[in-house]
Amino acid sequence: MLLQPQRLVREPRETRAPEGVRRAATPRTFHVWTIGCQMNVAESDAVTTALRQRGLTHVPSMEGAELVVLNSCTVRESAEQRVQGTLGNLAHRKREDPGLMVALTGCSVEPDLDVMGQRLPMVDFFFRPGALDHFLAELEAHEVVAAPHEAMGLRGYSSPVSTYVSVMQGCNKFCTYCIVPYRRGREVSRPIDEVVADVRMMTRRGAKEITLLGQIIDHYGRDLSPKSHLAELMEAVHEVEGLERLRFMTSHPRDMDDRLIEAIARLPKIVETVHLPVQAGDDVVLRRMRRQYTVERYLALVEKIRATIPGVAVTTDIIVGFCGETEEQFRHTLDLMDAVQFDVVHAACYSPRHGTVSASWDDDVPQEEKEERRRRLERQQEETQTRLNARLQDTVQEVLIEDSQSHRQDLPQWRGRTRTNKLVFIPREDEGLAGRTVPARIIKTSPWALQGVIDR
Ligand code: SAM
Ligand code: SF4
Repeated sequence: MLLQPQRLVREPRETRAPEGVRRAATPRTFHVWTIGCQMNVAESDAVTTALRQRGLTHVPSMEGAELVVLNSCTVRESAEQRVQGTLGNLAHRKREDPGLMVALTGCSVEPDLDVMGQRLPMVDFFFRPGALDHFLAELEAHEVVAAPHEAMGLRGYSSPVSTYVSVMQGCNKFCTYCIVPYRRGREVSRPIDEVVADVRMMTRRGAKEITLLGQIIDHYGRDLSPKSHLAELMEAVHEVEGLERLRFMTSHPRDMDDRLIEAIARLPKIVETVHLPVQAGDDVVLRRMRRQYTVERYLALVEKIRATIPGVAVTTDIIVGFCGETEEQFRHTLDLMDAVQFDVVHAACYSPRHGTVSASWDDDVPQEEKEERRRRLERQQEETQTRLNARLQDTVQEVLIEDSQSHRQDLPQWRGRTRTNKLVFIPREDEGLAGRTVPARIIKTSPWALQGVIDR
């Protein structure tokens, strides 16, 4: 089959197949390469399922694949460099094997797809995050893949015990440092019945825990007609048979409201974990980041969450070395961490992203200083996690077993998580525990993980 060169124009343009794309044969194998956030992981899972349904075989590495889908990230420069490196390798391979097909999705896909096509000639298809249906339609139109195998249905596929479902795309916030709104567009929520159908499909395939994803998940449903609310979505998902645990992320401190907090406390499948990125602990820095809350408001929100949801774990993201951040302002972030006692902190050095507001400001904290601040922050957080996890010594925790860990042959272990998302290792004395929830007595703790034994 020869793929005819064709330029697709749609409004809005979600995909692009550059002119001159030719193939001698249809691909039989594919690989999806993923970098970045959980939204990318969820979208890559959806790409994998869709391509399998169209008869392609998934292969574990890029080398053996005839179609490679790169799911990219540009939130930080380090991720962008890895995407560029991988595209370079694929371009090299394509010179030897012109039949190789490459598709690029994720946040690297810029608004002007024609410019992208000229800059990255090794890419055959571009598709925006959330535009999987357009991509599949394009593949079918070009006879790269056939329509889905009806008979194949869902048989033969299994989900991991814990998996992701994206409930909305995009972000309307435009924090000054962030590329996401430029690449993922405005907020668009998926209707409740679509999300519930996805969750039902995942649980039928064996998933026990679902994490609902959105950049500002607290905004879920504002754009729907009639309007909805994340609490309403979670109530509907909560009813799905077979689902045992429900997580959600990411919340925004400005938008997390009482209705949502009350729903987390009321619905038993929603676990006691709230991811609430604070980004900085200084009001001047927060204002320059355009985060729309103050330290005082953040602390009051955490207090309310803790008062309403007993035993809740609160985790966060922090950027160090943002434009103009002084040593004193950075210390305010350490003070805030001290006041909150986060269960986990994801820290990143500020990295200017072309096209964002702060990219035009002076990136005046030297790289070594950013890294030094991040190390200090991580040392402090390690102490906090040591203390918080030590409190769990000798307690019995409800652990959902995800899989087994086999890198130590002399000590086979099960790997699972508590409701508060703490990693627990349990000696593998019993078989067939994957997907089961077991009571585990914690016998050893560290800042990063817990060791447990089944409490019989
Ligand atoms: N929507 C979430 C929120 O409001 O915090 C976060 C989404 S963002 C894709 C994930 C994390 O990447 C952010 O929490 C932030 O810490 C980090 N991040 C985003 N832009 C960054 C930048 N320019 N430099 C360093 N870290 C960045
Ligand atoms: Fe980026 Fe801010 Fe939107 Fe989060 S809320 S995705 S940090 S713009």
